[in-house]
Amino acid sequence: MSMEVMKFGGTSVGTVSRMQEVASLVTASSKPTFVVLSAMSGTTNALIEIADYLYKKNPEGANEVINKLEAKYLQHAQDLYSTEEYKLKTKAFLLKEFEYLRSFTKDLFTSFEEKNIVAQGEIMSTNMVVNYLKEKGVKAILLNALDFMRTDKNGEPDLEFIKTELGKIMEHHQGFQIYMTQGFICRNAYGEVDNLLRGGSDYTASLIGVALSASEIQIWTDIDGMHNNDPRVVKKTEALHQLNFEEAAELAYFGAKILHPTCIQPAKYAGIPVRLKNTMEPEAEGTIIDNTIIKGKIKAVAAKDNITAVKIKSSRMLLATGFLRKVFEIFESYQTPIDMITTSEVGVSMSIDSEVHLNEIVNELKKYGTVSVDHDMCIVCVVGDLDWKNLGFEALVLEAMKSISVRMISYGGSNYNISFLINAQDKQRALQQLSDVLFQHQ
Ligand code: ADP
Ligand code: ASP
Ligand code: MG
Repeated sequence: MSMEVMKFGGTSVGTVSRMQEVASLVTASSKPTFVVLSAMSGTTNALIEIADYLYKKNPEGANEVINKLEAKYLQHAQDLYSTEEYKLKTKAFLLKEFEYLRSFTKDLFTSFEEKNIVAQGEIMSTNMVVNYLKEKGVKAILLNALDFMRTDKNGEPDLEFIKTELGKIMEHHQGFQIYMTQGFICRNAYGEVDNLLRGGSDYTASLIGVALSASEIQIWTDIDGMHNNDPRVVKKTEALHQLNFEEAAELAYFGAKILHPTCIQPAKYAGIPVRLKNTMEPEAEGTIIDNTIIKGKIKAVAAKDNITAVKIKSSRMLLATGFLRKVFEIFESYQTPIDMITTSEVGVSMSIDSEVHLNEIVNELKKYGTVSVDHDMCIVCVVGDLDWKNLGFEALVLEAMKSISVRMISYGGSNYNISFLINAQDKQRALQQLSDVLFQHQ
């Protein structure tokens, strides 16, 4: 019998009543369920702040954050449980956790220690919720993600390892109603504690869903599904009831924060539907992500920030055999992925989302032509069934963008996305205008 995987984000486990609500949602069905939890909202940021103080050799600063966090967690445990037994048990566990965090304020500090600190948020939230379930008499077990979540030498999830190890663990622990684990955290190929980057709990849920051949992967968050535009930027966005895997993957990659950028891929390959639900409003329909395509429908708009455009012009060499390969190799050698690319007879423009190696990249590109760079840009992308044989969508999208300066346009890489590179300062206006033109009559 295949299970459902339910993942709850930081806000969904952010207070005592939210944790109690999560407990009732996961036990709503009597079937065994696999639950993935994030850290309580604000905790991962606080842990990163502690690490920052320690990098800067400021243990007093770190201790101040640790003390505040400890007081909050102990009060939380006091309020969450109704029995002395569970209050005491959980407080003892938390005190050990904070003792562990304090142990880092004395030693040498590297990224290895930082990863261990940042992992404690998910370790604490899962312990607290599983104890709450046990107090309520639910047959629940906490599985340690560090025993089976693993990345390979390229930093990519090692799905074979995850499948095998989680398979063995599940085999050993049959008969539970709730199997719970930490999102986000994992070990790397060398066995060290690591993580799947910010927002990575969605990715954990999707990888576990695939490893267990789950019937559905549910991402429970603080909004009623994927909206047709960024609700933090645009007024009157609306929830979408259905998205195709490709559409959801494009939206996640291009900035729709509700999903981690790569979490749709494993589910897409395994054909497991992903459902987005609102913990604060469980009766709301949410969004189902599956293989269905709604012909010709433009679904949503998203924006990716902190983009840099790099242009190389070379009248001599451009489009000569091997030129693009040389250009791409430079980006590859600095592990800087290219998001958008456009070519003309005299130049190539590319966009990247990291300036960490920009100087080196530009210096190497200069061997092949004149290089120019534009900073503070953003990619706005329109997603839907944009098959090239469909008529009219390009005109509609351009109509919405007519008063915005556009640095690059990209279409044709997929049937699901048309992207524009614009100045960051025009983002709000571009997103609002796209919503006004594309969705007002739908
Ligand atoms: P969680 O902590 O549950 O993982 P996140 O904060 O990562 O939640 O993601 C949910 C948030 O994503 C929403 O509160 C919303 O502000 C933001 N968001 C950005 N774009 C979209 C979108 N297109 N649809 C829905 N939510 C979006
Ligand atoms: N707690 C981690 C973060 O804040 C992972 C997650 O919530 O998905 O990024
Ligand atoms: Mg998230």
